[in-house]
Amino acid sequence: MDFTGKTAIVTGGSRGIGRAVCLELAKGGANVVLCYAGNAAAAEETGSACTAAGGRALAVQCDITDSAQVKTLTDTAMGEFGRIDILVNNAGITRDGLLLMMKETDFDAVVDTNLRGAFLCMKAVARQMVKQRWGRIVNLSSVVGLRGNAGQANYAASKAGVIGMTKSLAKELAGRGITVNAVAPGFIDTDMTAAMPETARSAVLSAVPAGRLGAAEEVAKAVAFLASGDAAYITGQVLAVDGGMAM
Ligand code: NAP
Repeated sequence: MDFTGKTAIVTGGSRGIGRAVCLELAKGGANVVLCYAGNAAAAEETGSACTAAGGRALAVQCDITDSAQVKTLTDTAMGEFGRIDILVNNAGITRDGLLLMMKETDFDAVVDTNLRGAFLCMKAVARQMVKQRWGRIVNLSSVVGLRGNAGQANYAASKAGVIGMTKSLAKELAGRGITVNAVAPGFIDTDMTAAMPETARSAVLSAVPAGRLGAAEEVAKAVAFLASGDAAYITGQVLAVDGGMAM
């Protein structure tokens, strides 16, 4: 896929799926602005890998729950590259627990990062995309947002919310050459899933028709397609990349 001359902001680009998305876009020649929460070493490593893959890259520390920091992120992207064509809302967290044990702070933190953070980033790039009459927004949802999961009420609510927000923004922006889609990964091999206890891991795996975990690169290819010029007539959709889990 050709991303020559395009500038992409990828939140949570330092690790996991976000890192794979950065590399996929950089391979196509994109300028990649990747943001991270605190892991500067991982972000710098991803930035170097993007440059080696053929793109230009800039790593920016930005807490996406803070609108002032999100503004700095988009200002930095504009200052460095002069345009913003693609936003991939990938940064996300989990704070799992059954309802009766779940603290309000864990509910708030997950919704604040996964849903409100994505909202702030979309709000920050939309005006520029409208001016350009071209834009691609891809939001990371989850199979859990489609089907629910015991112990993840906060995460499921945030990821279902991302789908509702995606469809609403798709309707608002379709006439301006901007598409808004969601990708809903299943069980992907990243730090997020590595933190799960072995029993929970095997239980989830038994529910995957493909019988294996997905790779971050497999999600990244779907994201890159939706971010490309080839996906111009696709908007408001949720593409599951989950080995058949959500069927
Ligand atoms: P991950 O390996 O845990 O990486 C999370 C990324 O988000 C890191 O780059 C982290 O930055 C960043 N981040 C976290 N909070 C942030 C904040 N407040 N501001 C800015 N950046 C922040 O996650 P992943 O497994 O790749 O998941 C990526 C996305 O896919 C998430 O939205 C997740 O919910 C979704 N997803 C994942 C799976 C899966 O199986 N892995 C399945 C379905 C959906 P630092 O490196 O600085 O900490």
